[in-house]
Amino acid sequence: MSVVTRPLLTLRRVTPLNTARGVGRSIRLQPIRHNSTSVPPRQTPSALSSSSSSSSGSSGPKGTPISSAFYALSLALFCGAGYLIGNVSALPPSTSLVDSSFAIAHQLANQPKYGSHKDYHSAIEELTQLFESKGKGDQVSTDDADLESHGISDWSYHEAKKPTVVVWVDSTEEVQQVVKIAQKWKVPITPFSGGTSLEGHFSSPFGGISIDVSRMDKILEISEADGDVIVQPGVKWDDLNAHLAKKGIPLFFPLDPAPGATIGGMAGTSCSGTNAVRYGTAKAEWFLNFTVVLPSGEVIKTRQRARKSSAGWDTTKLFIGAEGTLGIITEATLRLAPLLPTKVAVVTFPGVEEAVRAATEVVNAGFPVQCVEYLDGRTMEAINKGGMAGKQYKEVDSLFFKFQGSDASMSEVSKSVQSLTKKHGGANFEFSKSDKEAKDLWEGRKAALWSVLALKDGARVWTTDVCVPISKLPRLVRETSEDFEKRGITACHFGHVGDGNVHSLALFTNEEELKVVEHAVHDMVERAIRLDGTCTGEHGVGVGKIGYLPTELGVGTVNLMETVKRTLDPHNILNPGKIYPNIKPQSQ
Ligand SMILES: Cc1cc2nc3c(=O)[nH]c(=O)nc-3n(C[C@H](O)[C@H](O)[C@H](O)COP(=O)(O)OP(=O)(O)OC[C@H]3O[C@@H](n4cnc5c(N)ncnc54)[C@H](O)[C@@H]3O)c2cc1C
Repeated sequence: MSVVTRPLLTLRRVTPLNTARGVGRSIRLQPIRHNSTSVPPRQTPSALSSSSSSSSGSSGPKGTPISSAFYALSLALFCGAGYLIGNVSALPPSTSLVDSSFAIAHQLANQPKYGSHKDYHSAIEELTQLFESKGKGDQVSTDDADLESHGISDWSYHEAKKPTVVVWVDSTEEVQQVVKIAQKWKVPITPFSGGTSLEGHFSSPFGGISIDVSRMDKILEISEADGDVIVQPGVKWDDLNAHLAKKGIPLFFPLDPAPGATIGGMAGTSCSGTNAVRYGTAKAEWFLNFTVVLPSGEVIKTRQRARKSSAGWDTTKLFIGAEGTLGIITEATLRLAPLLPTKVAVVTFPGVEEAVRAATEVVNAGFPVQCVEYLDGRTMEAINKGGMAGKQYKEVDSLFFKFQGSDASMSEVSKSVQSLTKKHGGANFEFSKSDKEAKDLWEGRKAALWSVLALKDGARVWTTDVCVPISKLPRLVRETSEDFEKRGITACHFGHVGDGNVHSLALFTNEEELKVVEHAVHDMVERAIRLDGTCTGEHGVGVGKIGYLPTELGVGTVNLMETVKRTLDPHNILNPGKIYPNIKPQSQ
């Protein structure tokens, strides 16, 4: 075993795939946005063998002469020619977890291949027949407006393509039927739900089927005693919480991304939001169980409803942050949290360093913080200009706190937090006395995103998120805002400071500025990774962050993810072009 490992590790160091910077570069130099119509792909002849042959594992990869030579040379250096011949001819099956260098080279030589133009048409025909037979012919559409809204997001400027057909499904059984049709004709299939994701998650780079689960929006069963709820994937988190409040049930679901985001998409992106400092992210145990349709068409449940389980490892988590690439969630059991009264405080600071130090100390001192949000001076200026918050704020770096607890306990919290923040230069401390005041004060934070556009006439906004260890946040924000200034770009920085998660919103008015923004965002992401952080704290990978994964996670971890993907979805039917940098279906 060790004999096999040594040469492979050496290969890992020299393979160009490992230069994730190069991967990132190639991504950022892509054309910004093509609203191109997705023509059903055509089959082209290829020297590479198909994914089906690769998954059989019985034969070695039919690599290019260059890759074969590369293997030969590297292995010969370490093991000698005899060893070399034996091993090159015994390359791994695509679904085995083997050393990254072998697995990646094998992947690159054995890419998935989709159906022909005719196959795509056959899939559409079969879908149409199926839904017409149920009296639901209008739930299959090839209208351009439907294709556009299901492939291209108004919020993202990454290259995006439309699907070939959109299908609205109503049940697990229908999802299963659609998946089986996709498998039969080798047509990719991309789940779509709330459509609020930001990194090109639901773009269909190879056309195919957009499966829209937004009609599956039923709250199936609430158990107040157990503190959980069973929902369909199209349920919006804000509708769920409004429903619980209307029913007088003092529980809520604490993950809070964009208004209108749905449970399926929230699990898919591993979302979080302002409440994460108190409740954690989608990767905490807010999702107890999923019903999932796997790429094979098989339907599974990941676990029972019990709050705790140590029965094996956590298959629910496999689908969190998987962006619809491993299965389609058709039902979810969610854990709910007790709804507590909250109050809001706003306090200004001389700069980001002081604000972060104060936020960290308040959180670490054990005050009942539900949210702590940092907004830079430019964001505060935008909020004032936008006029959506109903009040004017000081236009300097600020923290917005949300505290949990009874009115009685809040006066003590208010006094202590004021004196603690003062130590770090905190000033203009405001603390809400009533629920109404709390709501009004929080409006400022809520208005931030929409207000940023008020800073520049006719501007559009590129929004991105990264996350670093909290102590590194001041450096990240300072260096990033200086960099944007130097490039002449107006940008606002704000975010969930309690988790070290920052969003940068950069304004642009033309294609030239957009290019500059794209480069600055790329540098920001690399800066965050250098600071031991991540290319995305909560928005997910989509197409926008795919090139950063090898640097951030390491090629071995990417290989592990790709091996799981190949195992579950050997034909790469589900949501291609996302997450897995080395799985590159053949362009047709
Ligand atoms: C104004 C604004 C503010 C935002 N603020 C935040 C924030 O604070 N925190 C945060 O985390 N995000 C935020 N986001 C991003 C976005 O809201 C989240 O990514 C959200 O989780 C996406 O949910 P969705 O229902 O819109 O998913 P979609 O965009 O429909 O899909 C997202 C991904 O999930 C997959 N998917 C969808 N349904 C399923 C399913 N049933 N099974 C499997 N996969 C599925 C899709 O294929 C896609 O890859 C914000 C976005 C906007 C526009």
